[in-house]
Amino acid sequence: MPPEERATARTGIGYDSHRFAPGRPMILGGVKIDSDVGLMGHSDADAVAHALTDAILGAACAGDIGSMFPDSDPANKGRDSMQMLSLAVERIESAGFRVAHADVTVIAESPRIGPHRAKMCDAIARACRISPSVVSVKGKSNEGMGWIGRGEGLACIAVATLVERGR
Ligand SMILES: [Zn+2]
Repeated sequence: MPPEERATARTGIGYDSHRFAPGRPMILGGVKIDSDVGLMGHSDADAVAHALTDAILGAACAGDIGSMFPDSDPANKGRDSMQMLSLAVERIESAGFRVAHADVTVIAESPRIGPHRAKMCDAIARACRISPSVVSVKGKSNEGMGWIGRGEGLACIAVATLVERGR
């Protein structure tokens, strides 16, 4: 890689939001959560996976989830978003990076994230081929404010740190 692209670490940020909808699954960080409502979306609507995928691609300046997995492609309908995350990790690995750390915040009035945190970290770690000890998932309410407070949907923010792969 050219000298200006060499750095000890690179950070990317990702954001995603999905509307709640009845009769849809609620999958976050690869974990199916029991819920009266699910998340509307073209794929499985896993907002944690989507935000983190964008963070990882962003850190490598390798585009975004929408360009890698367009909604217009029927192959992406109902797609397992953890598989999309895994493919994004493959892309940044072939560009000379590896994931060193990931941190995700889910902003929602419900579901509560705490009971699912360990499983979500495990699933994310598997998709990124890293240890769960370098994966963080946190839940926050929006204190009842705005569209999240009204229970219209949820949002996720993710930060990923990439380092150069050892050769
Ligand atoms: Zn999404």
